[in-house]
Amino acid sequence: MERAFVIGHPISHSKSPLLHRHWLQEYNLGGTYEAVDVEPADLVAFTNAIKSGAFIGGNVTIPHKEAVMALCEKLSATATQIGAVNTLWMQNGQLHGDNTDKYGFLANLDQQCPKWDAQNSVAIVLGAGGAARAILVGLIERGYQTIYVLNRTAERAQRLCAELNTVFQTKIFSPTTLQDFNKLAPNADLIVNASSIGMNNTKCEHVDPTRAPKHAIITDIVYTPLETPLLADARRAGLRTIDGVGMLLHQAVPGFERWFGLRPRVTQQLRDKILDGRHD
Ligand code: NAP
Repeated sequence: MERAFVIGHPISHSKSPLLHRHWLQEYNLGGTYEAVDVEPADLVAFTNAIKSGAFIGGNVTIPHKEAVMALCEKLSATATQIGAVNTLWMQNGQLHGDNTDKYGFLANLDQQCPKWDAQNSVAIVLGAGGAARAILVGLIERGYQTIYVLNRTAERAQRLCAELNTVFQTKIFSPTTLQDFNKLAPNADLIVNASSIGMNNTKCEHVDPTRAPKHAIITDIVYTPLETPLLADARRAGLRTIDGVGMLLHQAVPGFERWFGLRPRVTQQLRDKILDGRHD
């Protein structure tokens, strides 16, 4: 029986088992997907167990996403660009690592809002952490020409933009602070919250999405609550909004396909189940 996993520390909050078990059941596959709490000191031993055949692969979450890179024998170009791995699998006797957050972000917008990625557009991204990095790599691939990165800690945005401008040999990424949001918003085609603002209904006083033009798309990757205060303000102003749970669902697709050989679908039924938090 094929066994897959999600590792993290802690891990009990992860929605990945619910998600992958839904697909295993939907497609009547015999594999398993389990949550394993792995302390940092045990990461090498766990990856050795994968290499010796205990698992076919799995997901990696906090705090192992960066540390596991050094234990992979092959890394995808995306994992290298993002600097973190969230999906592992064995192939030809080697441990492979990829990062599917970029794919999940892009696929969610593709599904919810086709043609969202018009060329020559301007994006504002809030946050400069791991998720922001994956999204920024996705936006440059989709042809965004100007991308402002607004972060509470200015130096972190500066470092991230400098690094990405070097990697992509471009000047597209511009760092600034959250205080600049209202000044920049009237020129934005896409606004992405990739920071923790919004969790538990928090709001940033400097960020007023109603300053965006009427055609702008506002998306949030925070999904607790599903409609964050940012999305609620934007919706009330008549702007197109896209919530963050779709990214979570779509980022799981490539891993499931690698482990179990079938590309699963992201459906409304799955979305409802994850939002309910029901475990079968
Ligand atoms: P991270 O690496 O820890 O980065 C957190 C970011 O949020 C940083 O830019 C940080 O700014 C900012 N931040 C935190 N608290 C803030 C506050 N009170 N005010 C303003 N900015 C604040 O985390 P991450 O992995 O990038 O994740 C960011 C969020 O996205 C989390 O809420 C996570 O749950 C969510 N997420 C969702 C998905 C999905 O599939 N939908 C996927 C990944 C992550 P500083 O640099 O100033 O600290």
